[in-house]
Amino acid sequence: MMSDAPLALYIHIPFCRTRCRYCDFNTYAGSQGLVPAYCGALAQEARFWAAALGTPEVATIYFGGGTPSLLPVPEVQGLLGAVRDAFPVAPATEISLEANPGTVDEGYLAGLRAVGVNRLSLGVQSFQGRFLRLLGRGHSAAQAREAVAAARRAGGDNLGLDLIYGLPGQSLGDWRADLGAVLALGPEHLSLYALEVAEGTPLAADLAQGRLPAPDPDLAADMYLLAEESLAQAGYLHYELSNWARPGRECRHNLAYWRNGPYLGLGAGAHSWLGGMRFANVSRPEDYIRLAHALAEARPARPGAMAALLAVAPWVAERETISARLELVETVMMGLRLVAGLGLEAFRERFGVGVAAAFPGAVEELGAQGLLETAQGHLRLTPRGRLLGNQVFSRLLSSGL
Ligand code: SF4
Repeated sequence: MMSDAPLALYIHIPFCRTRCRYCDFNTYAGSQGLVPAYCGALAQEARFWAAALGTPEVATIYFGGGTPSLLPVPEVQGLLGAVRDAFPVAPATEISLEANPGTVDEGYLAGLRAVGVNRLSLGVQSFQGRFLRLLGRGHSAAQAREAVAAARRAGGDNLGLDLIYGLPGQSLGDWRADLGAVLALGPEHLSLYALEVAEGTPLAADLAQGRLPAPDPDLAADMYLLAEESLAQAGYLHYELSNWARPGRECRHNLAYWRNGPYLGLGAGAHSWLGGMRFANVSRPEDYIRLAHALAEARPARPGAMAALLAVAPWVAERETISARLELVETVMMGLRLVAGLGLEAFRERFGVGVAAAFPGAVEELGAQGLLETAQGHLRLTPRGRLLGNQVFSRLLSSGL
């Protein structure tokens, strides 16, 4: 019933010490007392899905949040043990964990490595105190540098750092300084995100009430170009619109998303894409714990159709059947985020049609405008197309879902 493709497994940890001013993720401050019960519920959910799906192989594991580095090492070990008991997990599986610089030290990071975490993603966001305060990050630039040094001393050899650009009041010179600072730390991976102002956040209120200058999208585009240039000079491979890596250090878990492969999300608010359906769990950790524990006795005896499985998974709050056409469109949208582009042969094998035929007129038109190109068996955005990605995506969508 399910595809045999290996699974990308996401584990959501919805706890943070404090809430950053720009954040609209599903995360809660002051709820850490729930951690033991929450981890128990995650283990239940892992067992449910292993039985339901016929124990597919897990190719990657990613602890995201929230702040997964708030989990004590024994809890991470327990969760990995539960996953390994439930699913076949290859020894070389990429196991990533997102960490907040203010929450880690060498002993903790060595402990994570000892229990199998082999990739760390550190949310640095900026190296300048005024921007860290503006974002409400709750850690300093010195703590970020110390976290990187601690990760190295603990033996970490696959370290990703995240930065945000396009901040209110941030100049091109400020951004150049951040790029210099991050490159000096020599991470294996870099994720650079343009600030998105999410409605309802304190940052959105600051901007709406004029307490902060509005971000300038043209300046953000210049910052993106500067990053592309600086990181290329430093030997990083630009492999996805917002992601760069040393060759061979691309994030394999996220590559599964961009290839529109199957993924299973465990935990409060986690999303999954499996068996022709996309679905999401209840958001509040308390509800998730109650509902996942309630299912302890009702695990499916054997795999079945996804809609039937979801009917006995009361912690799943939203579900949507994805039509073949929508899957095709989403595969193109995600695949074009990769700098190498969308593999044309793999696409034809998966959908039984070529990309150009699937979007009549649009691919040719975008090619003539210099926004899309074909190279080495892939359809990809040109450098100009990367800056005008939204225009490309809306033209493709206008040729019909
Ligand atoms: S640490 Fe991350 S998830 Fe937590 S509040 Fe800040 S931005 Fe949101």
